[in-house]
Amino acid sequence: MTQNRVFKLIIALFCVLILLAWGIGFSKGAQAGRAYEAALDSSGYSTVIYFSAHQDDETLEDFGGILQDLRTGKEVHVVLCSDGSASGIYKQLLQEGHDLTIEEFTALRDIEFTNALVSLGVPEENVHIPDDRLQDGTFPEERERLKDFVRYWVEQYPGAAVRTHSPKIEGIENHPDHTTVGDVCCELQDEGVIKELRLFIDRWHLEEYQAIEGLTLYKLPAYGKLIRDEADRLAGAAKAYSDINIDLDRYGIGGRSVAGYWAQLQADPVSYFYDREAQ
Ligand SMILES: [Zn+2]
Repeated sequence: MTQNRVFKLIIALFCVLILLAWGIGFSKGAQAGRAYEAALDSSGYSTVIYFSAHQDDETLEDFGGILQDLRTGKEVHVVLCSDGSASGIYKQLLQEGHDLTIEEFTALRDIEFTNALVSLGVPEENVHIPDDRLQDGTFPEERERLKDFVRYWVEQYPGAAVRTHSPKIEGIENHPDHTTVGDVCCELQDEGVIKELRLFIDRWHLEEYQAIEGLTLYKLPAYGKLIRDEADRLAGAAKAYSDINIDLDRYGIGGRSVAGYWAQLQADPVSYFYDREAQ
C-alpha cells in the first residue's frame, strides 16, 4: 500500500467516525425532541383549568402554559382561589391617603386579574372569580374547604386537565397558599378526580427546583419561544398589573407587590412546570 493510499484510508475512517458520532448525537437530540413534544402534548384534553392562588400568579407563573394551551386550541379556564386581601399593598395605599375598604381593594385586584387574562387571550367568560373563594393567607387552615372548592370546579369540566402551583417539595419555601393548592390537586389526582396534572413552579426558586434529582422541568410556551403577538399579549397582562391611574381606579397593585418577579418575567419570559402522575 502506498503512503498515499494509507493516508486516504485514514481520512476515510476519520470521516466514518465523525458521521457515526453525528448520527448518534442526532438520534439522541431527536429522542429528546420527541420526549419534549410528548410532554407538551396534552391533545387528549380539550379543556384546561388553571387554579391560581392569588391575582397575578396566573401571569407570573402560568402565562407560558396559558399561551401554549391557547396556541393548541384548548378551552382555557382560570379559577381564582382567594380574594387577595392579605397583600401588604393595601396598608401602603391607606398610608398614601387612598380611602379604600378591603372589599374595594379586592375588587381592584380582581379587575387587574381579569384584564391580564383577557390580554393573554382567555375569553372573559372563562375567567372565574367565585363568591366562595377563600380568604388570602388561610389555605393551610382551610385545606378541606379548598379541596371542596377545587373539586367543584373540576366537576364542572369533567375530564379537564388541571394546572396549578407546585406543592411543597424538597423544603423549597413557597407561599403556603400556593403549596396547599398544589397539595390538594395532587390528592384529587390520586383520588381519580383530576386526570392530567401539571405543576407550575415559582420562578424565584428556579435554581432550587433545577437542582432536584429526577425532576424534569419543561419550559412553556414550547421551547420558551413567544410567537406571533404573544409578546404583546404578555406585555398587556403585565401592564394590567402595573398601570397606575387613580382617576381610572388603576392602582398597579400586582406590579407593586412583587416587583422583582415582574422584572424577572420581563427579562426571561418563560414558565416552568413538571408533570405529575397519579400515585
Ligand atoms: Zn400568589
